[in-house]
Amino acid sequence: MIGIVAVSHSHTLALAAVVLAGEMLHGQPVRIEIAAGLDEQTFGTDAVAVSEAIGAADSGDGVLVLMDMGSAVLSAELALDLLAGDHRVRLCAAPFVEGLIAAAVSAAGGADLDEVAAEASNALAGKQTHLGAGAGAGAGAGAGAGAGSAPPGSSESEKVQRAAEIAREIEWNGRGFAVAESGPVSRAEFVVDNPHGLHARPAARLVGAVRGLDSSVLLGNLTTGTGPAPASSLSRIAALGALAGHRLEVAATGADAAEAVDRVLALAARHFDEAPGLVAEVAPVTRGTGPLPASPGIGIGPSWLLAAAQFDSADLDDPGRAETPAVERRRLDAAIATVRAEIDRLRVTAGTDAGIFEAHQVLLDDTEVLDAVHSRIAAGTGAALAWARVLDDGAAELDRLPDEYQRARAGDLRAVRDQVLVELTGRATRLVSRAGVLVTADLTPAQAAALDPAQVTGIVLANGSPTAHSTILVRAHGIPAVVGAGLRVLETAAGTTVALDGQTGALVIDPDRAVLAEFTERAVAQQHQRDTALVAAGKPAVTRDGVTVHVAANISDLADASAAVRNGADLAGLVRTEFLFLGRADAPSIDEQEHAYRALAEALDGRKLILRTLDVGGDKPLPYIEQAPEANPFLGMRGIRLTLARPELLRDQLTAIGRVAADHPVGVMFPMVTQLSELLAARHILSEVVSQDIPLDIGIMVEVPATAAKTAAFAGHVDFLSIGTNDLTQYAMAAERGNEALGSLADPLDPGVLHLIDTVSRAATGRARVAVCGEAAADPAAAPVLLGLGVHELSVGPPSIPLVKAAVRELDSTSCRALATRALTCSSAEEVRALVP
Ligand code: PEP
Ligand code: MG
Repeated sequence: MIGIVAVSHSHTLALAAVVLAGEMLHGQPVRIEIAAGLDEQTFGTDAVAVSEAIGAADSGDGVLVLMDMGSAVLSAELALDLLAGDHRVRLCAAPFVEGLIAAAVSAAGGADLDEVAAEASNALAGKQTHLGAGAGAGAGAGAGAGAGSAPPGSSESEKVQRAAEIAREIEWNGRGFAVAESGPVSRAEFVVDNPHGLHARPAARLVGAVRGLDSSVLLGNLTTGTGPAPASSLSRIAALGALAGHRLEVAATGADAAEAVDRVLALAARHFDEAPGLVAEVAPVTRGTGPLPASPGIGIGPSWLLAAAQFDSADLDDPGRAETPAVERRRLDAAIATVRAEIDRLRVTAGTDAGIFEAHQVLLDDTEVLDAVHSRIAAGTGAALAWARVLDDGAAELDRLPDEYQRARAGDLRAVRDQVLVELTGRATRLVSRAGVLVTADLTPAQAAALDPAQVTGIVLANGSPTAHSTILVRAHGIPAVVGAGLRVLETAAGTTVALDGQTGALVIDPDRAVLAEFTERAVAQQHQRDTALVAAGKPAVTRDGVTVHVAANISDLADASAAVRNGADLAGLVRTEFLFLGRADAPSIDEQEHAYRALAEALDGRKLILRTLDVGGDKPLPYIEQAPEANPFLGMRGIRLTLARPELLRDQLTAIGRVAADHPVGVMFPMVTQLSELLAARHILSEVVSQDIPLDIGIMVEVPATAAKTAAFAGHVDFLSIGTNDLTQYAMAAERGNEALGSLADPLDPGVLHLIDTVSRAATGRARVAVCGEAAADPAAAPVLLGLGVHELSVGPPSIPLVKAAVRELDSTSCRALATRALTCSSAEEVRALVP
């Protein structure tokens, strides 16, 4: 086999070029030696080193020497003199990087010295074709120019010669191969669907696929008319300029012609075995494969990673205010238990990346660390401060170690420190928005609420799920996002360009110009669609056959309320009041709540405001509400269960709501209701604090399957029912809403969930209004099904309102009913989605 020597001024450059070439070889052994730099740091070339490298690369068949420029060429010539002009050594004028890659692939295929040299010399052809500078040397059929043509003798050179002959007999006329030859010829067409086209890596796969067959294979680009190119030549394939979507024709002759064509087609069908790596498909991603769409829109920008938490020990517990050591120990134990459970969950879903979390688990169980924290707590320090100090000391010690790997462990220590501190303080890591695409493992609701949509152009979460509360907030901000992208996205270097489509889930890290242009085009088209929808957003949404659908807003703060009005909301169908209670040390007073709710009502300017009473627990714990650790918080004390157990919280909130209802159109809605007795107990408290004379719509959220089934029992006691499909789906499908591994299972269009909605709608007809306020309401595929099931209000994040209204105007209620009836007979969400036109 031909050996190769890379001569360069820079050792680093040569090494990187060799590594790059190695990528194209897919494990095929090729001897490539480096003679580069005077040493690893100093630029320069050395003739003796070049001659030694030639000796090392030579296996007897010959050596091709590639150089960068200047003294590299002189040193190589001198080395050749030192070797007394060995004719098996060839200096090649090919471009250093491209030539090295082409030569390596060609050598791996068993080509002789002339062929390898010719391949290297033609290596610029692909780039020249692409940039329109003419195909340059070797663009035509045959062995090409440069270092000489292939001599007969070796089987490879015979093949190149035969390819040239075939090219004469199988004529490429720019629109396809015209076959004049009588022997066995196989032909077929295929489409390149690799995002970056038939670039070096897939082209190298193609060369490898036909290698060793008794066949000569030619390729032509039917889309551009470029060709023909022998399939044994990497550089010539590159010169075809085959981009994503281009149609290619392959023609082969010889005894193995059919086999050759089959192999090419099979390879094309496998996308040329291109490893997805960090690059997800540009094409739409279906639910459950790869990143999940989470917040619509195109996001493009430089990546920034969420900085490690910035807990400052100075703002943690004041030792004077710490509870007794026993209480502080219990708080610490509970926080550690929660973090351990979370890490366990991540480990299960992380698959091969699970190692990242193992170190964190070990740290949580480290008895030395725990003993030190316990001693501080025993001496009167609060749990948070004690934990922070011990972990800070440990991290500082690691920072001082000489070994880089060990020093990096300090990051693990700080990560674990912060996770436990988040639990102990209820405070999330501080998030300061930056311009570009945020790439991070996951977000807490408080972090998501703090994002600045003017700066953050997109979000990529390694974990996360489309109906997690943090994702809902991201959607409310109108920031395009994909979630569940896998832990490898966390390796993205800060500043790398990221492009994502939050509608389809497509995600490309470091896109090339063509991909970037495609995303930009999509962004422009979507913006145009949004702008058009916005023009009509203030008008009611009426179906083609005259049925009015109220399109409401899900909001949590004043900014959302203003966005709701701007986007044409008919009312605010869900106010998540818990965001007034999160991220603080104690509950807001009645006055404070009244002030906040009144401000929302005023911003809504006469539109009705449905205030949901506090819904915490589950994935929204509050530090100032003492809660025993729960193994399954989503099945525990959350929503109305919690506020009935802490009636002073409910009493205060209903008082504040009643005050606002005295002068604004207001409704109140209770979350997570499972029993009629819960609703009656809440109504009783309401009657104690709000006069009967104050008009107040009363409703419940339908989030528990049992509640849906018992709708008839509730319907007489409420004005409306609002179906929370996020929780209803999680409970019906037994698929936790925050669990990214279950993203595809937790689909609200599963017929099991649709039957529950149907039950609610039928039992409520004529007695109570039925709304949907879960994220399904904004899903374009879900809207016709929900309307067909009898839902007449869709409450969605403010940015989605114009498009939902536009979609409703395209619908016909009779067709929606027919669609819903068919959807109820399906066996899966995929089947339902396939029904939607
Ligand atoms: C729901 O469960 O669908 C819902 C709207 O409530 P939340 O997402 O706030 O739990
Ligand atoms: Mg809910």
